[in-house]
Amino acid sequence: MIVLKFGGTSVGGAEPIQRVGKIIAGCLDRSPVIVSSAVGGVTNRLFRIVEKALANDDWKTEYDELVSVHKQILSQLKLSVDLVDSLLQELAELVHGIALIRECTPRTNDYLVSFGERLAVRILAAHLREAGVEATACDSFDVGLVTDSRYGAARPVEDVDDRIKKALQGVAGVPIITGYIGKDSDGNITTLGRGGSDYSAAIFGAALDAEEIQIWTDVDGVMSADPRIVDGARFLEKLSFAEAAELAFYGAKVIHPAT
Ligand code: ADP
Ligand code: ASP
Ligand code: MG
Repeated sequence: MIVLKFGGTSVGGAEPIQRVGKIIAGCLDRSPVIVSSAVGGVTNRLFRIVEKALANDDWKTEYDELVSVHKQILSQLKLSVDLVDSLLQELAELVHGIALIRECTPRTNDYLVSFGERLAVRILAAHLREAGVEATACDSFDVGLVTDSRYGAARPVEDVDDRIKKALQGVAGVPIITGYIGKDSDGNITTLGRGGSDYSAAIFGAALDAEEIQIWTDVDGVMSADPRIVDGARFLEKLSFAEAAELAFYGAKVIHPAT
């Protein structure tokens, strides 16, 4: 069993999603479990929507763009453009509420920014089924990812491994699981912190005794520095656990520090 995690750019459009579909279809013999981020840029957009709703600014334009990004992907993948309408509707109602009361608690904020991943897994799973691969979209909290209530920086509860193992048994085909989010024991949606989908992949991989956890992203590996900042950064062939932890801790985005 292996875990494959796809980041925002990897699911950032119809073409990348088709590539991801082929990668998944190519490793079915290894019983893949998939963890997906939101479509690239969507989580930032959700944070902007909150800011605008709180400032009595025009959040509707940002929201409409978010809708159109997802609908365009659906239509290019030849999937029903209504596939995620109920989630989009729920999101609009939530933002409307925030705009009315001009208040967004950390709990509400986590609920709001959770929509990115919840939208993405439904699109990826539908695409896989369309391509002939049995797959089920899963919200991580429905497949065992229970966390504490530290909104914005939640951590899994102690018996998360057992919960995940049990819950995933009932899923048909390839599970396509939301990264980044969980639920606390009161049923409130939580997030693991920005970039947290890598950490979700590690949580699922550890719980399932995965042979391997693969992090698919927009660079071909961990480098000596962030290539967006440092010219001449080079790929590292090997990295110890301690080195990886240090890189992540000091802010290399390539993996979330808790991973
Ligand atoms: P994803 O959405 O796939 O999780 P991220 O943007 O979170 O992708 O992380 C990948 C980015 O991390 C790369 O595009 C790169 O700019 C940045 N990065 C920072 N430090 C490093 C590093 N040491 N090695 C590789 N990439 C790095
Ligand atoms: N979508 C979330 C973020 O942008 C989580 C992730 O991409 O790992 O922070
Ligand atoms: Mg990331």
